[in-house]
Amino acid sequence: MTPPQVATVVMYHLVQPPDAGPVAGLKSVDVAAFRGQVAYIRRHYTPVSSIDLVAAIDAGSPLPPRPIVLTFDDGYRCHRDHVFPLLQAERVPATFFPVASALIERRLLDVNKIQCVLASVDDLDRLVREIDAEVEAASRNGDCLPPSTYRATWWRASRWDPPAVVYVKRLLQHALPDAVRVPLVDDLFRTIVSIDERRLADDLYMDVDDLHAMKAAGMTIGAHGDRHVRLPTLPEDGQAREIDGALRVLDAVGASREAFVYCYANGEHDETSVDLLRARGCRAAFTTRPDLARLAAGEMLTLPRLDANDFPSDANAPPSEWTRRAF
Ligand SMILES: [Zn+2]
Repeated sequence: MTPPQVATVVMYHLVQPPDAGPVAGLKSVDVAAFRGQVAYIRRHYTPVSSIDLVAAIDAGSPLPPRPIVLTFDDGYRCHRDHVFPLLQAERVPATFFPVASALIERRLLDVNKIQCVLASVDDLDRLVREIDAEVEAASRNGDCLPPSTYRATWWRASRWDPPAVVYVKRLLQHALPDAVRVPLVDDLFRTIVSIDERRLADDLYMDVDDLHAMKAAGMTIGAHGDRHVRLPTLPEDGQAREIDGALRVLDAVGASREAFVYCYANGEHDETSVDLLRARGCRAAFTTRPDLARLAAGEMLTLPRLDANDFPSDANAPPSEWTRRAF
């Protein structure tokens, strides 16, 4: 028996110049670094589309040497402005994963709301006290743990942020249960950020016309959640609603619901998520687990991806560890 083929999948979020406005502080890849990465990738790999991976499994279609799939999450407008033109010029196919509520209803993703709250707040200590008060109240109802427990885990400096910022980000991004976290994020955004959500969403995310143009140019459009909720936090019917809501993206851009590709919000999934996607005809689904992707029938709905930061941004850099492993 021949061993399964291996592909490299890379995930990108924001790709933007340093002076990127309201979301300049979000983790992103600089446009110049991205250009270098594409050149590096073209030297060492053969870019293919995510549908090529599916065809390799379904039809036994051979893949070129060292296949690589570039994926772009969340449907940011910088993908249209800075990524798409370069990919087109270099004839590199890619897969884009917009979030349905951001694309269609122009809702802001929580991760972007939190960034705006931090960028707009003038008294960080007061923000921390407000969050702690909410957490304290919710913990008395048994909805989450007391603030001291979260402090013990998350009050610490990171490479970029002081402890208070790390604490706010982690609690609001994922540490609190969604039942406490989501209303708290909405409330903070409403009271602290003066920019209208709709206007900010229009600045941040691509629209349906942008994605139509990308699809017409040969790019693949996949689904990436309705509200970008981590699937394992939901019961089965909630997961089904989140996935079915996500698939509205395919309809909006005229992509087929047959043989579609999916990207789990925050990479998170469980057996229920995989079963629901399989039942709907999903042929490949991507996580954020960092590894090379083994293309085997039983593994297509839990494919790992490398982070963009795992790749050199200098076209002439020697092959990195992940590149050597793909040889
Ligand atoms: Zn995402």
